[in-house]
Amino acid sequence: MRLRARLLTGLLLGVAALPAPAADAPEAIYVNARVWTADPARPAAEAFAVRGERFVAVGNDAGVRRLAGPDTRVVDLQGRRVVPGFNDAHWHLPSRRSARLDNAGSVAEIQRRLLEYAQSLPAGSWVVGRGWMPTDFPDRRADRRYLDEIFPDRPVVIRDRDGHQALANSRALALAGVTRDTPDPPDGRIGRDGQGNPTGLLQEAADNLVTDLLPPLSAEDTYRLLLEELSAVAALGITSLQDATDVGLTDNERSALERAQADGKLTVHYRAAVPLEPDPTPEQLQRAVELRDGTRGHLLYYGFAKGMLDGTVDARTAYMLEPYVGGGNGLPFYTQADLDRDVAAYDRAGLQVALHAIGDGAIRMALDAYENAARHNGPRDRRHRVEHVEVPALADVPRFRALGVIASTQAIFATPDASTLENYAPLIGPERASHAQPFRLFDEAGAVQAFGSDYPVYPMDPLLGIYTAVTRQTRAGTPPGGWYPANRISVEAALTHYTRDAAYASFDEADKGTITPGKYADFVVLSQDILSGPPQRLLDARVLHTVLRGRETYRAAPGAP
Ligand SMILES: [Zn+2]
Repeated sequence: MRLRARLLTGLLLGVAALPAPAADAPEAIYVNARVWTADPARPAAEAFAVRGERFVAVGNDAGVRRLAGPDTRVVDLQGRRVVPGFNDAHWHLPSRRSARLDNAGSVAEIQRRLLEYAQSLPAGSWVVGRGWMPTDFPDRRADRRYLDEIFPDRPVVIRDRDGHQALANSRALALAGVTRDTPDPPDGRIGRDGQGNPTGLLQEAADNLVTDLLPPLSAEDTYRLLLEELSAVAALGITSLQDATDVGLTDNERSALERAQADGKLTVHYRAAVPLEPDPTPEQLQRAVELRDGTRGHLLYYGFAKGMLDGTVDARTAYMLEPYVGGGNGLPFYTQADLDRDVAAYDRAGLQVALHAIGDGAIRMALDAYENAARHNGPRDRRHRVEHVEVPALADVPRFRALGVIASTQAIFATPDASTLENYAPLIGPERASHAQPFRLFDEAGAVQAFGSDYPVYPMDPLLGIYTAVTRQTRAGTPPGGWYPANRISVEAALTHYTRDAAYASFDEADKGTITPGKYADFVVLSQDILSGPPQRLLDARVLHTVLRGRETYRAAPGAP
């Protein structure tokens, strides 16, 4: 009764507020803002109040100001745009430092960046890079000779942008003992020339032949790398990450995250996956459940099991219902029977499953496995996920809503760069390309779509992701009108996928995803109003403040552009 009276008073004041004793004034109020809340019950507001880790009131300026006590900090946001903290629903902690080869565009540029990066390393140590694309090489043929030219004696391995193939030089192949007589490993392919000699290209699991030789990071190096990543995360307005690494965290990574949490340096909600074990034992399932339940409410927490069903289109390892243009197809990493068995086992244990599936064949297998689990285990709020879900068959799009399956998409995958236009799209042909990365189709079909970046495969900047979802153009504004523009979505829809929907995808909608009284005070202040004006504004806007559970994790330097 008292609660209702207070809520009523709040409404009269123009604020939705949690009931609180009068002495318990907010620690901070943020006023004079343009707040986009992501909360359908109150989409826009001017001000909000924070007490402890949570929002306690959201409403108009006058109403929120009235809540201030003598010790309340009043922050005037000067009319700036505020949105909920971004939630990257598909992210990975980089396992090591590497030269960034993104958008190199040519062999010469790859060589230049590798040489420059190698200068920062101890002499003779491995040179590791990532981010190249087949289109960077003549005839789209990555070959070890381009690396041998600059590093004849030093081992080099560079992973492609999607992380599904690597190129090693001759020294690295020699250290790994890879010769013309080496058979392809299961789930992998060693690239070979006309004479059968290895070209240095190592697809899918074949890259382990070389990458297993890389010296592991020490615990201290892992911690330092984590702190660097966390500061980049906060500077981009991200307050929640969902680490979708299929092998789960390494011992070093888990220790680094736990240490950061204990030191008060974990500046993000960090939800980590556990591996989807083949034919899991009751003990394995029990451990996954205990890990989830034992970390609930912590910044570092668990709760989903990640598996891989196929590769990527660019490497022709995504499993398609029909072959690639020019022939060939990827092979699924599971039989349907094994997948059904494993998914049903996790489902029965009450765990959420996330399956990497890019090709329409793999996506269908994932949906079939989820449908099978529901049929066998009965109704439940399961929220299983398909990760990437790049080229779904049109007939399968409505199944996401029907089965309650989350489409975990990456807006930035729709960047129409040279790789997309010259390799990706031709490989699947115009009919399938016309509904690749179908953000609007998923929205229209009523699916819950959670946005992520797949960092470090792609940049994690959510504003860049939103720009891509809204324009389907490169940063340079090409192609005119956008790549298959029918699948563009609005800024508001893209923001929703990066906030409210991503929180739903991790069962966190009671605590996160909108600026609503009672939820964690996770929010971002932007330099520009991204909800009005041309899309270019998304590229120009900067994050000014990031706040996690009421605590500032990032503040732009004064006078920064
Ligand atoms: Zn990923």
